[in-house]
Amino acid sequence: MEPRPHWLFGDQLGPHFLDPRHGGPDAQAPVIMIEARSVLRRRRFHRAKAHLVLSAMRHRAAELGDRVTYVRAATYTEALAQVPGGGRNRLTVCHPTSRAALALVTSLERVDVLPAKGFLVPRAEFAEWAGRRDGRSLRMEGFYRWVRERHDLLMDGDGPAGGRWNLDHDNREPPPRGQDTLTVAGPSRPEEDEIDDEVRHDLDRWERDGQVSFVGRDSPRLFPATRREALSALRRFLTHRLPDFGRYEDAMLAADPVMSHSLLSAPLNLGLLDPAECVERAEAAYRAGDAPLNSVEGFVRQIAGWREYVWQLYWHFGEDYRHRNALRHHAPLPDWFLELDADAVTANCLSTVLAQVRDTGWTHHIPRLMVLGSRALQDGWVPAAVTDWFHRCFVDGYDWVMLPNVVGMSQYADGGLMTTKPYTSGGAYLHKMSDLCGPCAYRPTDRVGDHACPYSTGYWAFLHRHRARLSANHRTARAVQGLDRLKDLPELLDQAAARGAQAP
Ligand code: FAD
Repeated sequence: MEPRPHWLFGDQLGPHFLDPRHGGPDAQAPVIMIEARSVLRRRRFHRAKAHLVLSAMRHRAAELGDRVTYVRAATYTEALAQVPGGGRNRLTVCHPTSRAALALVTSLERVDVLPAKGFLVPRAEFAEWAGRRDGRSLRMEGFYRWVRERHDLLMDGDGPAGGRWNLDHDNREPPPRGQDTLTVAGPSRPEEDEIDDEVRHDLDRWERDGQVSFVGRDSPRLFPATRREALSALRRFLTHRLPDFGRYEDAMLAADPVMSHSLLSAPLNLGLLDPAECVERAEAAYRAGDAPLNSVEGFVRQIAGWREYVWQLYWHFGEDYRHRNALRHHAPLPDWFLELDADAVTANCLSTVLAQVRDTGWTHHIPRLMVLGSRALQDGWVPAAVTDWFHRCFVDGYDWVMLPNVVGMSQYADGGLMTTKPYTSGGAYLHKMSDLCGPCAYRPTDRVGDHACPYSTGYWAFLHRHRARLSANHRTARAVQGLDRLKDLPELLDQAAARGAQAP
């Protein structure tokens, strides 16, 4: 019998998505890939993101050669009508990563949906784990330990390697003082080729024709678009950068946005790397004595813990999660933020980070959480619009990863389903963890006046606005009590209100 053709989505590009084992597609199945213009028309994506996704898809199609039918069309439905067999063949597809795509493929009678690939834990197993919680709230830490045991990851017998599950305490150092950059080898950088030239040419043309519009600047492609480039990025990270990953994981340096981070989220989310190979190789580096436990545990926690947890929560929390707005935040996103207009911003941290997003479509997790997300939270921007912004502007942003990270983790719009407290801070935290405050026109210690740090003013104004809710939470109650000691609270609130949507 002829193998059924297999449909590959643009984030299913690694070899494991065509592996017939573990419920995969038929061996040697012809492959269908669809480049649907409607996806780019729907949203104003970062130019670097549009480039990366199209480049990665076209590179994969070139590798698959005669095995693939690559259809360029306005919509998926239009494209499917063009595939060999006149639209009558049965197709297979691996479980897509968004609710919209899953709804589309399940609505098509001729498509058989195969299990998801690219994650460590099958959805059914997570459901069992969550079911055993008997109504107690789900927490990442418990899930992560369960994944480590189940996958025998960083385990010595029945216990965690080194005797501790959690080494976060060792992984919160401020940046080394007196250094502009970490002294680690930089990440690997891909070289563009003729496929990138063609993508750039197409994007220019569509933009000129008014078919699509982008945010952010075009730049040489910084992230892997092929399996070979992705493996080279993983190798370079493990060999040169993993040892320092842990200690400076939460630190920020203006001139060194990447520090010791892996830059692997984009190739992981495109499906070019499998999470299992990343964590297994990191563990091998620890076992070989090439990287310390705190770094390896920190990295394994990010991938086998956070990434996996976020994927599962996306499905677990249900469709209406994206509309959650527990803090009733209704302010629209200001234009300077929507346009990534870093030059309009005076606060050095925000201006620096916004410029990183404008230029590359990427920053590491602390700028996302404590600079960008925290600004949105303090200023009360609509969580769904903040989610949309992150989705469009980040090279690694996809629906599944955005929703829990932004709605839950960053905006606390789910009222505490994902995290135990809102993540926001005054300028003191940013000052401690970065070199961004030194040259700033504002002072982290000032809450009111010309030099008041917008994060310090905004932090207290946020606590004040949500006093009732936050004083009932044992993790924030003490911070709320601090409000009563602020003699300048009325002035501070006036100052926060007077700034409104203006760039800080
Ligand atoms: P590293 O610091 O080197 O971490 C290693 C890997 O762990 C990452 O490559 C990523 O695959 C995984 N990881 C770590 N934390 C998370 C997490 N919370 N969720 C999912 N994966 C995680 N990550 C995305 O992949 N896409 C997003 O769109 C995204 N949006 C975010 C938005 C906000 C507001 C926040 C707070 C975090 C977001 N993250 C997102 C998580 C995290 O910031 C990025 O994965 C990370 O910064 C990517 O850089 P890196 O590859 O160098 O990561």
